[in-house]
Amino acid sequence: MWKKTVILGAGAAGMMCAAHAGSDCLVIDHAKSPGEKIRISGGGRCNFTNLYAGPENYISANPHFCKSALSRYTQWDFISLVDGHGIAWHEKTLGQLFCDTSAKEIVAMLVAELKQAGADLWLQTKVMNVERTDPGFRVALEREGKPVTITCQNLVLATGGKSIPKMGATGLAYDLAQKFGLKVTDTRAGLVPFTFTDGRFKALSGTALPARLSNQQTSFDEALLFTHRGLSGPSVLQLSSYWREGEHIHVNLTPEIALFEILREQRQIQGRRDLTTELSRHLPARLVDFLATELGIKGKLADQSDMALRALCDRLQDWQLLPSGTEGYRTAEVTIGGIDTQELSSKTMGSSKCPGLFAIGEAVDVTGWLGGYNFQWAWASGYAAGTAIAAS
Ligand SMILES: Cc1cc2nc3c(=O)[nH]c(=O)nc-3n(C[C@H](O)[C@H](O)[C@H](O)COP(=O)(O)OP(=O)(O)OC[C@H]3O[C@@H](n4cnc5c(N)ncnc54)[C@H](O)[C@@H]3O)c2cc1C
Repeated sequence: MWKKTVILGAGAAGMMCAAHAGSDCLVIDHAKSPGEKIRISGGGRCNFTNLYAGPENYISANPHFCKSALSRYTQWDFISLVDGHGIAWHEKTLGQLFCDTSAKEIVAMLVAELKQAGADLWLQTKVMNVERTDPGFRVALEREGKPVTITCQNLVLATGGKSIPKMGATGLAYDLAQKFGLKVTDTRAGLVPFTFTDGRFKALSGTALPARLSNQQTSFDEALLFTHRGLSGPSVLQLSSYWREGEHIHVNLTPEIALFEILREQRQIQGRRDLTTELSRHLPARLVDFLATELGIKGKLADQSDMALRALCDRLQDWQLLPSGTEGYRTAEVTIGGIDTQELSSKTMGSSKCPGLFAIGEAVDVTGWLGGYNFQWAWASGYAAGTAIAAS
């Protein structure tokens, strides 16, 4: 069987690409249903884009690479598509847009779009082998227990990254890219909780507060959540994408207030108040109990010298922690790194080394922050490849 285009992966990027690649396009996935990560994303409501998405919200060895695709298919383009399908949505926080009802609406929308464009979708289909032919590719598949071979002019790698293997994530895109001579950068888990093997936060499990998490490179002000195994919550997930093993992280537990000034003022007004009681006005009580033991916080406000208060504030506003590691690909929302962008055209997502080969979505070394940015990259890169293929 001959097809102009075969897209491997019916996820966010693959379906978007198919919706624009024109007819004679076949999308292949080994899963039972398309867009499984879309379905579970955003707690089942899919944080499908971000009002403020821009190139600065992406991590890549080449930070300029994502600019072209993001500017040619913006958050506003995706919002129009969603509106056109009558899907109700709302902004939750920080420009993050979610479906009012269910992420399944986004999956249904993409399937409808690709069908309308004339593309075929084969699910529960195994990719057995892919070979280069001249020109094009030969893709050996197993469908309903039977071998099927497709030859095609264009092959799009859209099988995503390594995160959550339980959901069917594989390294297929990286393997095929390497097979066809493209470089793949080192990969690691991103948007992932930190672990502490000493279990030191067990007693705090479930405690959450707004915090500023930073390292040498960057800083994020969002919620911090203590867990049985370590630290999670948006600020932690964001920082994890910039973290390397063996590096300390810095936690500011009171980023929004001038704690030192407040404590000094309260010492004047409420000198007989316990220091821990005063801290509990600004921090969760369980955390104050924990810190009291960890940092030896005791005594009345009136007993504290300026120096002691300053030292305490420094500890609370620059608490340095050394994570043992992360939860890894088992729970990571994304994979950092991937197919080297130097190998791809930023306009078409096509390879110059291997004409007809395209790579899109998470498989490429472009990773977004938490907050709808990763889907926006999937839509934009899928659109870039799809429109380039349609025009070819
Ligand atoms: C729990 C969770 C929640 C998330 N929430 C959000 C969110 O709210 N907002 C956001 O922007 N991002 C979110 N993300 C990230 C987002 O899901 C991904 O960045 C995005 O799905 C990447 O799109 P993709 O098309 O490149 O890959 P995917 O969506 O992962 O699609 C890849 C497809 O390829 C298929 N596949 C893989 N290997 C093979 C193979 N060997 N053979 C055949 N098919 C194969 C898979 O079955 C899958 O259908 C979340 C991720 C997770 C894990």
